[in-house]
Amino acid sequence: MSQAWAADVVVVGAGNAAMCAAIAAAEQGSEVIVLEISSEEEKGGNTTYTHGSMRFAYNNGEEVRALLPEMTDEEFSMTDFGDYTKEQFFEDVSRLSNYRTDYDLANILAKESYKVMQWLTSHQVKWIPIYGRQAFKINGIFKFWGGMVLEAVGGGKGLVDALHQEAIRLGVRILYNTSGVKLDIANKRIQGIYIREQKQDAYIQCKSVVLASGGFHANVEMRTKYLGPGWDSVHTRGCKFNTGTGLKMAIDVGARTIGNWSGAHAVGGDRYLPNFKEGFQKLSYPFGILINKEGKRFIDEGEDFRNYTYAKIGKEILKQPGQYAWQVFDTKGKRFLREEYEGRSVSKVVANTLEELVELMGDVDHEGFLTEVENFNKAVMDVPFDPNMLDGKGTEGLRVPKSNWALPINEGPFVAYAIGCGITFTYGGLHITKKAQVLHEDTTPIEGLYAAGEIVGGIYYDNYPGGAGLTSGSVFGKIAGSQAAKYVQAEYQVK
Ligand SMILES: Cc1cc2nc3c(=O)[nH]c(=O)nc-3n(C[C@H](O)[C@H](O)[C@H](O)COP(=O)(O)OP(=O)(O)OC[C@H]3O[C@@H](n4cnc5c(N)ncnc54)[C@H](O)[C@@H]3O)c2cc1C
Repeated sequence: MSQAWAADVVVVGAGNAAMCAAIAAAEQGSEVIVLEISSEEEKGGNTTYTHGSMRFAYNNGEEVRALLPEMTDEEFSMTDFGDYTKEQFFEDVSRLSNYRTDYDLANILAKESYKVMQWLTSHQVKWIPIYGRQAFKINGIFKFWGGMVLEAVGGGKGLVDALHQEAIRLGVRILYNTSGVKLDIANKRIQGIYIREQKQDAYIQCKSVVLASGGFHANVEMRTKYLGPGWDSVHTRGCKFNTGTGLKMAIDVGARTIGNWSGAHAVGGDRYLPNFKEGFQKLSYPFGILINKEGKRFIDEGEDFRNYTYAKIGKEILKQPGQYAWQVFDTKGKRFLREEYEGRSVSKVVANTLEELVELMGDVDHEGFLTEVENFNKAVMDVPFDPNMLDGKGTEGLRVPKSNWALPINEGPFVAYAIGCGITFTYGGLHITKKAQVLHEDTTPIEGLYAAGEIVGGIYYDNYPGGAGLTSGSVFGKIAGSQAAKYVQAEYQVK
């Protein structure tokens, strides 16, 4: 053992959940050390790869504006934020989990979401409205849909930088290239944590540990073991360090697990992009069609706003022959392509006719595709199109319906994007209480052990509402950090 440290609270990980925990503990006077396995340049975990978009409940546009001190009257007048109540947020999490979510945690997530936005704002995180990606401009007004209206300035990187600066200002010490290896526990109480700094083993004596080291999406072996065959070969998005080491550490000291261990957030994106590269996702599918190797559609691309469907589409692509698909758009649909469709490295083919397009795709059944598009076009209902609402412009009589935004694919030039499945994060994790305490297998808390963020299980099953990951990390990170600090204070008082 090369070196021994001491702290009140040790936080494992330096992404959003971890830094919220660190700030909350430091705010309460705790001495905090953060351990991050990556280098400083790569800091921030999956959080760095996000747009920094956060889902939170609000009653009206004024409440959103209160988080945007720099918004002008002119900008506000052309923005319709609508409302998104706590009840709607709670219902979205419940509905998308097929009513299997932990209702206590889902309730806290929804109820605390606006307060945590205020708290983050007080800690120097700045926001901007997500114009374009979450609101289309129609008749001079940006009308938001889908419960996600703000993102951090500078995206995920901006969020991570702001949280790190704030933590440092509050005296938090961050050790990079340092991993949490093993929890030291006696009588079901945290005594400290064994760590590895570069190649050196060390030990930190502490009363409390907050685990915020993400799930296991970047661990091929665990993916295959828990998610099943095929998941070994999917594209891996985001942070390469989220390999389940925090989960294993907790399980090794008897922590209880919960949730959808065979489920994961997985999207459709660029089939040929190497792992861990930014720009994978391709999320404008509601305005086109998705077809498989046989040329057949296989999902309802317009089932709901994309915030409520994108996280389950990767799994559907993985079920297709060859585990791939193509997104196809005509000129009308192309108007709605998000910025991730731009750039030279995007895998796409363009043609003036559908016959030429399928020829260029190369790996799709020609007749199957042409017949499918013809049938789709004939089935489109004559209803007005509106991208800002569930417009009911669906199809009639198809084996696989499209419920909204069904535009016929009939105006060239046409474009098709090669799509594969990409995993973002895993749903199974540690069982925590309302105070973010990690439970032991005997169902009582392991004293001094807390968890937040992706490492927590039981909130999402099968599907996920976009923007809830960061909010959950912030809400439960803040709770975990402040509860850890309170626990430490209580321990010292006893002595
Ligand atoms: C491309 C992409 C886009 C996304 N967009 C959004 C979005 O806009 N909005 C949203 O809400 N969610 C989004 N998500 C999901 C979101 O990233 C996560 O829900 C959230 O960032 C998880 O935060 P976290 O703090 O739990 O984990 P992370 O941010 O992943 O942090 C975990 C940290 O722990 C470190 N670590 C791992 N093991 C150890 C160890 N043993 N010791 C020390 N450190 C360790 C990792 O290096 C990492 O820094 C997106 C994800 C991706 C990949």
